[in-house]
Amino acid sequence: MTKHIFVTGGVVSSLGKGLTSAAIGMILEQRGLKISIQKLDPYINVDPGTMSPFQHGEVYVTDDGTEADLDLGHYERFTNTLLTENSNFTTGKIYQSVIARERRGDYLGRTVQVIPHITDAIKEAVHAGVPSDDIDVAITEIGGTVGDIESLPFLEAIRQFGLEADPKDVMYIHITLLPYLSASGELKTKPTQQSVGKLREIGIQPDVLVCRTEKPMTEEMARKISLFCNVRREGVIEERDVAFSIYEVPRDLVRAGLDMNICGKLGLPKEGITDLSRWEGMLQSIRETTRSIEIAVVGKYIELHDAYKSIYEGLSHAGISNQVKVKLRKLRAEDILEDGTAALEGAHGLLVPGGFGERGLEGKIAAIRWARENNVPFFGICLGMQCAVIEVARHLCGLEGAHTLEHSEHTPHPVIHLMESQKDVEDKGGTMRLGAYDCHLEAGTKLHELYGETEISERHRHRFEYNNAYKEQLEAVGLRASGVHPQLGLVETVELSEHPFFVGVQYHPEFKTSPLKPHPIFDGFVAAGLEYSKSRNPNILVPQQSNV
Ligand code: GLN
Repeated sequence: MTKHIFVTGGVVSSLGKGLTSAAIGMILEQRGLKISIQKLDPYINVDPGTMSPFQHGEVYVTDDGTEADLDLGHYERFTNTLLTENSNFTTGKIYQSVIARERRGDYLGRTVQVIPHITDAIKEAVHAGVPSDDIDVAITEIGGTVGDIESLPFLEAIRQFGLEADPKDVMYIHITLLPYLSASGELKTKPTQQSVGKLREIGIQPDVLVCRTEKPMTEEMARKISLFCNVRREGVIEERDVAFSIYEVPRDLVRAGLDMNICGKLGLPKEGITDLSRWEGMLQSIRETTRSIEIAVVGKYIELHDAYKSIYEGLSHAGISNQVKVKLRKLRAEDILEDGTAALEGAHGLLVPGGFGERGLEGKIAAIRWARENNVPFFGICLGMQCAVIEVARHLCGLEGAHTLEHSEHTPHPVIHLMESQKDVEDKGGTMRLGAYDCHLEAGTKLHELYGETEISERHRHRFEYNNAYKEQLEAVGLRASGVHPQLGLVETVELSEHPFFVGVQYHPEFKTSPLKPHPIFDGFVAAGLEYSKSRNPNILVPQQSNV
């Protein structure tokens, strides 16, 4: 019998609900439980695939090709759970399914309403999020903030869910904020009281409050929150801002007693420990790292950290494995075009992420040329790889005007062109080449060396691809097509032989990296950055003893 935890958020958005939900999943896994985890998002888009990263951060992609909310990235980085199309539902996706049923005549003449039809569909989505009968605990995070109009049907549905289940099988965790007023030098509990009040109006009594705070929550305060919010004292948990890394969150929650609270409420065995020893080792290594390198990230959505969330995480994971702090130098691609490559000087590596649209494209190409000519490690992802192919075609093969058909319909040299399978596609939503595809790596290449195997699988999200008509010319100047889709012959990776590290991949390796298992390309890229920085300034690399 699967038990359910519903996670809601109050007071403000951006409380780190996704992170906390992922941490809860991880804590339970470390207690030997099998978990699943999903997110319900109140917005109307059927999925975030058609949204600009400026709106909602990066679009995360699962193996089965679902374009999903970026919180699913936290779930995969913290836990071992398998995510699918049932791991993320939006209001749009729920309504789409209800309206499709109505059109089929499934409601047999009845008036179709929010209650019960939409709420029933939401409850079905919660059940669908549990992939198999052996799942012990299913975690469902509700997006948005309690009090929003659009999240009401979700809250009503999870209230009903609790009503219809055994009380021992369902619990509600509410994440809230204790704002700190510097003028009076104190944390305030009123917003939490009001947010819990809103939940109770709907009929949901939270079992646990996770209180986000920048200062320690005093015992007196915890008692006050307990009294006013009708939550037992031990259910009022502090989640203080972390000092070093988001990966401290699970440990802090265990220290605050969240694991025992969950076990108590859901009737799970309380014996045994929540074993975080491997995780602790990783945290220690983050704390003790004193040396650093700087990686330039040249992109279009650089102002918003969440737009390249998984990429930044991938770099930090590789920093852990290489015992080096990876600092980010975030540069707008358009600025490189206007001001030249001076802003790149001194960086120990260049990463060009994926993207859409023409803005900044020439800046990315200029940055890649700089990295190639100066032997600075380069890593291009999706559009980043396509830009690398254009750069090499133009400047090494002498193919003037080489371009991608995405942005230049009349280029004389379409070195990146539309995939055959995309030619008749008209709808924008969910129609790209999405999800996991196999790739065969040629033995003896850099990519083969990094992965340590020739058969790999990685996740994709694109419409355009490397044009095989130019393969011979590109390989002749040293840009090797090292990874190819075994059946379709699509080139998935390129690498420059005469360069310390010049790698481009059509897929998104940032969706398959975690702090305990960094992705091999990120790992190799950061290692190359470290080598490069050593060659520039050997002194900064003398390992120092940390005082932390
Ligand atoms: N816009 C490019 C394409 O569709 C690259 C996509 C991406 O970087 N995710 O092929």
